[in-house]
Amino acid sequence: MRCLALDIGGTKIAAALVENNQIQQRQQIGTPQDDAANAMHDALAQLVQQYAGQFDYVAVASTGIINHGILTALNPKNLGGLAEFPLKESIARHTNKPIFLLNDVQAAACAEYQGVNAQEVPNFAFITVSTGVGGGIILNGELQTGANGVVGHIGHTLADPQGEICGCGRRGCVEAVAAGRAIERVAQTWDNPCSPKEVFERFRKNDEKATALIQRSAQAIANLIADLVISLDIQQVVVGGSVGLAEGYLPLVEQYLHQMPHFYHCKLSAAKYAGDAGLIGAAYWGGQTLINA
Ligand SMILES: [Zn+2]
Repeated sequence: MRCLALDIGGTKIAAALVENNQIQQRQQIGTPQDDAANAMHDALAQLVQQYAGQFDYVAVASTGIINHGILTALNPKNLGGLAEFPLKESIARHTNKPIFLLNDVQAAACAEYQGVNAQEVPNFAFITVSTGVGGGIILNGELQTGANGVVGHIGHTLADPQGEICGCGRRGCVEAVAAGRAIERVAQTWDNPCSPKEVFERFRKNDEKATALIQRSAQAIANLIADLVISLDIQQVVVGGSVGLAEGYLPLVEQYLHQMPHFYHCKLSAAKYAGDAGLIGAAYWGGQTLINA
């Protein structure tokens, strides 16, 4: 079956046909910012019409939370004019094919899980450490989304009760301690301020402040992984994102995890799909949902 897959991010929308995990006719446009809702209706109409007649179903991976076909977020301000956007209904105006929607990190979890032996690893988590921290959770071989699409928002579990206020409004979330934005915020206060990328360069040169900052992030992610292992019996975690995949980061997470008692340990590996994880994962999940329907 051929899928029209869309990956809607904060700055860009990717579209492609996906069949057997192979991506064809990929294109990318900017996510509408001005008059966002109307412009998004137009953009979706154009994309669906461009691929008309070439797909059996539509699968969308999107930033935010997909709640019964409507786009929302823990912090709706992050979505600008797209908060409460009726994503499913907007696409359905232009096709009568089945439409499946997922959060983009949940989709990425589906993509990464395909490389895993489901018999050995029925319980799996994907964590992205990027501008924010997100996750996708698979239990008994099935992606968990929950009744309202919220499952996997593990970046908003507690890392430090005395930490910064998170974008979601709670104090000390993992995201507020470990994410690229958190690293940037601290690095901006230094005498010689720098970008998160430069923080990593300094960290690899053993700069004291940069090392402490990266260690704090990695420690929070190691604790998050330990919490997942002990609460959900997760056997493997794949870590992605610009921070998660930065050289030297994952070994540090692994080091902290292994300092804990053995029952908190699990297999750790780096994400493989990077930029196409949303398209591939959404297409795969939509296809499976269609087959099982
Ligand atoms: Zn939060």
